[in-house]
Amino acid sequence: MKALVYHGPGQKAWENVPDPKIIDPTDVIVQVDITTICGTDLHILKGDVPAVTDGRILGHEGVGTITEVGRAVSNLAVGDRVIISCVTSCGSCSYCHQQLPSHCLDDEGASGIGWIFGHLINGTQAEYVRVPFAENSLHKMPRGVSDEAAVMLSDILPTGFEIGVRNGRVEPGDVVAVIGAGPVGLSAMMTAGLYGASRIIAIDLDDNRIQQAKFFGATDGVNSGDADWKDEVLAMTDGLGVDVAIEAVGMSATFQMATELVRAGGTVANVGVHGKSVELKLQDLWIKDIALTTGLVSATTTPMLLKLVTQGKLTPEKFVSHRFTFEAIIDAYDTFGRAAETKALKVAIIR
Ligand code: NAD
Ligand code: ZN
Repeated sequence: MKALVYHGPGQKAWENVPDPKIIDPTDVIVQVDITTICGTDLHILKGDVPAVTDGRILGHEGVGTITEVGRAVSNLAVGDRVIISCVTSCGSCSYCHQQLPSHCLDDEGASGIGWIFGHLINGTQAEYVRVPFAENSLHKMPRGVSDEAAVMLSDILPTGFEIGVRNGRVEPGDVVAVIGAGPVGLSAMMTAGLYGASRIIAIDLDDNRIQQAKFFGATDGVNSGDADWKDEVLAMTDGLGVDVAIEAVGMSATFQMATELVRAGGTVANVGVHGKSVELKLQDLWIKDIALTTGLVSATTTPMLLKLVTQGKLTPEKFVSHRFTFEAIIDAYDTFGRAAETKALKVAIIR
């Protein structure tokens, strides 16, 4: 088969590799029908994730068709169409029992991280992929849901919801600020309405993304390049600050912004992946009664989100801005890597 293989920082190729085989009886093999690229894949290609080694097939998002099942798999069959979760779950370790498969202990590398596709094992940017612990790590596609909508449930929609909205404890009437209007921030905006946010403020440096945010549930937009960005946001509250500030960029400066915008008693939910140390001004924050949350997506809310997609209450297919064939995956990377110029949000790579 062919797959997108990582060959060290800056090096990747769409090349021939051996077909994946069932290793454990709980595995299945999935023919990938649609996949996409995540900002994390770009981090890997920059060399920011050293656990990813030369020869690894990238990708942790996808929808496909089962072509082979291990002998211990009973509720999935050849021909089933499935959504591949970015987090695999053994279903039996203590973290899986606590609904935290993001820290699954039986992860083939024993590192306590449930995100293993395109990281510790071969991923989904390939014609076929081996899925471990398949019964806990795949979701059957309901009738009437498009592949382009479903592939957003592998990672970005549950990430924005679980780590942004749910950790942020959004409640009816809340004013929510989301810093960073990339796919993950937009997913938080799309799902903040589920808990009744009264205002959802999109904050970014890119005017195009602020504009796009209006189609993903944002009620307001602020360009944080403006000198008075903070006053603009505070004017959208009672002047005291937002109830929930969601950080969806992954920089010290944007984390600071979140702590400056939040009102006393509010919550800062950090979603961004930080590659450098971040200043936490506890000398100012200790007195504010704020909560600060962090997290790696567990994707345990995917079945719930899928119900809302099936009923047309969430429409994540609108994330797809560009479409490519598998053969053109290098062009897909190029387009996604220059998002500010190409206005890319999510690129669909289709069999
Ligand atoms: P992205 O790069 O597409 O989007 C980031 C956005 O932030 C862009 O629109 C950019 O213009 C904006 N931005 C950059 N600097 C800014 C600044 N100073 N002020 C305001 N806006 C600024 O990224 P994404 O795919 O949406 O992911 C967002 C973050 O979430 C990343 O750090 C990613 O690694 C992380 N992530 C976390 C998890 C998790 O489980 N916690 C899962 C997936 C992704
Ligand atoms: Zn587990």
